[in-house]
Amino acid sequence: KLSKRLQTIADQVTAGARTADIGSDHALLPVYLLQCGKCPSAIAGELNEGPFQAARRQIAEAGLTKAIEARQGNGLGVLKPGEADTITIAGMGGALMADILESGRLAGKLAGVRELVLQPNVGEEIVRKWLVEHGFVLQDETLLEEDGKMYEVLHALRASDSPKETTNETLYDPGFLAVSLETEQKRNWLYRMGPYLLRQRAELLDNKWRHEIGKLERICKQLEQSDLAESRDKQTQLRQEINAIEEVLSCLR
Ligand code: SAM
Repeated sequence: KLSKRLQTIADQVTAGARTADIGSDHALLPVYLLQCGKCPSAIAGELNEGPFQAARRQIAEAGLTKAIEARQGNGLGVLKPGEADTITIAGMGGALMADILESGRLAGKLAGVRELVLQPNVGEEIVRKWLVEHGFVLQDETLLEEDGKMYEVLHALRASDSPKETTNETLYDPGFLAVSLETEQKRNWLYRMGPYLLRQRAELLDNKWRHEIGKLERICKQLEQSDLAESRDKQTQLRQEINAIEEVLSCLR
């Protein structure tokens, strides 16, 4: 049985898609996608030797060596253009994920890819920005909690495959946030918190960002012990950030 996190990712993959899971580690996700009959074939890409061997073992044990190919290499470098309809990347930071997507795009590896299912551990806003800048449109976002950790799963399609009412312009329309922040700031908060998650007014989103406020407040407390000018500036900046989060969260109620 898959973890709730990996199950949520699997649920977003379109049935019938030839899927490449990049940074696959133990290849649990592609093995599941084949076993449940959702995908006809898959590629498990892995950079590092240990996880690559784990992927090979897992695929062999499941008797799926014909349908799932484990390939060792960096990011989308393991793919030939046109080989995958869907790419999944999970369990790494958003900056690394955006790097992998961008290097792959520059090398032509995204040609033919129609769907991305991404689960950044941190830095979600970097991934959302990359999607917007490269013509992908979010179709949904899921925030889930497992073993005391929160995870975000982002599901995106090419703009040409997106329903015509679902556009980046409407998703990131700063007018949606009825708060007294500047337009650019509103847009930034939409990127940081997620345009769907904000619209869902999820209690979990409120929890996630209250937790973040708690962290920022603890840093402020530590800075109070120092009277260097820089720590005062930093405190002011953190206070502003806390206020902005409070303000955006007030829209959820
Ligand atoms: N995707 C699995 C999941 O979500 O359960 C595994 C996540 S694991 C924390 C991240 C994996 O990505 C590691 O196995 C690591 O070796 C791999 N990785 C890191 N950088 C990579 C890259 N540039 N290309 C391919 N794999 C990479």
